[in-house]
Amino acid sequence: METTSEKAAGNVLRTLPGDDVRQIMWRFADRYDLQMLVQSARAVARGPVARLVAEGARNSHDWTTEKGRLLQAFDESGITAVFMDQEHGGFVEGPKNTALALVAFELSWVDGGAATCSLAGNLALAPIHERGTAEQRDAYMRRAMPPQPGEDRTISRGAFALTEPLPYVGVETGLLSGKLRVAEWQDGKEPILQVDKRGRFITNISFANFVTAAVDSGDPRIKGSCMVILEETDPGVFDRGTPTRKLVHQLSSTGDPVFSLRVPASRIIGGYTVKDGVIVPRYSHGEVIEAVFRRTRVTVGLMTSAKLLSAVEPVIRYQRGRFRGGESVQPGSPRYELGLQQREDVLHRLVDIWATGEAGASLGFATARLFDELDPLERRKDELFAAQGVGGGTAQLKAMRRLQKDAIEYLTLAATPEATRDGARAEALGSDPLIQYLIQDSLVNVLCPAVKLWNTGHGATVMREAVSLMGGYGITEDCPGFLGHKWMDAQLEATYEGPEAVQRRQLTVTMINELFLQQFRGWIVEMRRIASERPGTGACTVATAMQLWLWTLTHLQAATDAEGGKLYHGTRQGVTFPLADALCWLLAARYLILDILELEAKGPQNPVVAEGLPGLLQFMTDLCHVQSARAGGEVGRICAELVYGYNRHPAWDDLACGSCTADAAEVLEVVLPGVKAPTGGAGHLPKAGPCVQFDGMEGFTQLRLRLDACFTGARLAKDRAAEALTKVMIPEALDYPV
Ligand SMILES: Cc1cc2nc3c(=O)[nH]c(=O)nc-3n(C[C@H](O)[C@H](O)[C@H](O)COP(=O)(O)OP(=O)(O)OC[C@H]3O[C@@H](n4cnc5c(N)ncnc54)[C@H](O)[C@@H]3O)c2cc1C
Repeated sequence: METTSEKAAGNVLRTLPGDDVRQIMWRFADRYDLQMLVQSARAVARGPVARLVAEGARNSHDWTTEKGRLLQAFDESGITAVFMDQEHGGFVEGPKNTALALVAFELSWVDGGAATCSLAGNLALAPIHERGTAEQRDAYMRRAMPPQPGEDRTISRGAFALTEPLPYVGVETGLLSGKLRVAEWQDGKEPILQVDKRGRFITNISFANFVTAAVDSGDPRIKGSCMVILEETDPGVFDRGTPTRKLVHQLSSTGDPVFSLRVPASRIIGGYTVKDGVIVPRYSHGEVIEAVFRRTRVTVGLMTSAKLLSAVEPVIRYQRGRFRGGESVQPGSPRYELGLQQREDVLHRLVDIWATGEAGASLGFATARLFDELDPLERRKDELFAAQGVGGGTAQLKAMRRLQKDAIEYLTLAATPEATRDGARAEALGSDPLIQYLIQDSLVNVLCPAVKLWNTGHGATVMREAVSLMGGYGITEDCPGFLGHKWMDAQLEATYEGPEAVQRRQLTVTMINELFLQQFRGWIVEMRRIASERPGTGACTVATAMQLWLWTLTHLQAATDAEGGKLYHGTRQGVTFPLADALCWLLAARYLILDILELEAKGPQNPVVAEGLPGLLQFMTDLCHVQSARAGGEVGRICAELVYGYNRHPAWDDLACGSCTADAAEVLEVVLPGVKAPTGGAGHLPKAGPCVQFDGMEGFTQLRLRLDACFTGARLAKDRAAEALTKVMIPEALDYPV
């Protein structure tokens, strides 16, 4: 019979989650190719990358021969080829968003710069991959594949150039100064174009053989803007510029290049037509970068989550060993065995770091998977529109808008019990690829900026906590796990590919799409259901916080401030941006809960996971609860500030002095017993009543009260998770650097 202590031992977290656990949570347990890819990327990260960092390669921002060897390691390990389709020599079948996310996760577990170095090559190819002509795709993808045995050629590497020297392109991508002009256009021949582009902070520039650059027309014979491919052998100037004096990501190359080149018009990405003697690019630079960033930003978000999760093991090791070696500290004593882990605060902070990393990873990988589902739907949508003669850009947008009503109808039908819904209609709408595309698209349009914003922005703040837990060591080069470097690196991840403002601006628009909101309403029901079955996850808190967020959004869309000014408006970033932040907290908490349920469902089928599953599940559920409570707290705070904060506070002197003074007296009696209240005049304590009584707020105040009550047990979960951190086994030494 199982004894009480054995039962208890079964519920203890034995080891840190390994690959089998991650494969289940992030849903690649049935993808052997991805599992092998993770191993290859990890070998590069914890081998050559870790050695470079340990040897001090990050102390210089120059691109050195040693750093250059990383490119070879990427090629040999298969990392470079992940981006390529099989028809161009790649080995990953189908969409590659999850594959690329896993590679970035592994590399940035050790060093974000190395991950960026690999990703920037993909970023250069992405405009061609997403919007290039068949010929462009074929040519550049093949050249970017590492040469195979027997092939006599060198690999072609790329850089992506959007950002320009001040005062041009940064967050505002429309402020282009790079220009495209007609240099030569002989009758019946392809036009030759003159490209003048200066870049700022361009990654991979020290070794790029080609550049995909954003330019605007500087010639009446060219319409609008576009992206164009530049090659180092094109006639003119291909000046790589001086290296950027970076404080971060020094294992990637960054600089401010200058290009003044002549290129054939066939280098316009996506091609062009000629209309009335004017070259009309098929895609504007805005259309190309939108298609590119919506995918690549997810990967960047995951880089910061990897850093947070990578901090757990070194911090535990540091905490436990903190007092060992001292004369009076004997093996077996709590001070020797637990070290700093005898103290509650360091454990609680580590729980927060771990929970943040988990939630970010869950949100990021879920988004990458959604893009994997969206990719074939998007291709199908383009084929269907092409067959109907609907062009790209605005024409497609208009056509999709007409389908919005049907998509909402489908979501309503899908949420209706089978017995009472029109099954035939539900099936017809459910099998329409355009409707399905529209629904998925509305989701990724929220999730992608959310991953980039929350994982990197909040992640960078939490990374500071990890550094602080290592004491002085944390801010030295010798810090195990390179945590100090990772803290600074996280800030770059929050900045490049569009800083936080860009993501918040996008969310301001996409999170009010009725298609998204309809799905969001379904999630409230989903969280309530989970709460009744798995209350320990904190799903109840998330559900209530979701209701509060929705209430607040609806209120702000209709309400005005004290001056009568509209509150939910694009220019009112003080309203829209915090609301976007609040949503991100909810999304991250939801996806973590879903991953824990997956682990619970599939864990028993895997013998390695099944062995320690009860303890692991208990711990992960507690982490979930901690994260849900934190999310609920943030949402409550933000919503309350927004709902009440735009009402004018009654002037102190407008209050009836008698009652006010009486109120002040009551307050003083409680907080400072024995101190006499002032009588009359300005400056005394206002009565609390008038500033909190507003019409129609009952719904909000009830939700707020309910949310507070939902925190029940959250701190107990934190205590349990903290205790688990004192018992979990970790390896003797970190597996990098070697
Ligand atoms: C190491 C490194 C590598 C990079 N690699 C590349 C690369 O390979 N290719 C490339 O094209 N670019 C690259 N970049 C550039 C990077 O993408 C930009 O720095 C970034 O997009 C921000 O632009 P900016 O620096 O001009 O900031 P700004 O646009 O000046 O923004 C400054 C601040 O103002 C805020 N802000 C700006 N506009 C608004 C607004 N409308 N509303 C609210 N807030 C606003 C921003 O959020 C930010 O906090 C790289 C940058 C670095 C540092």
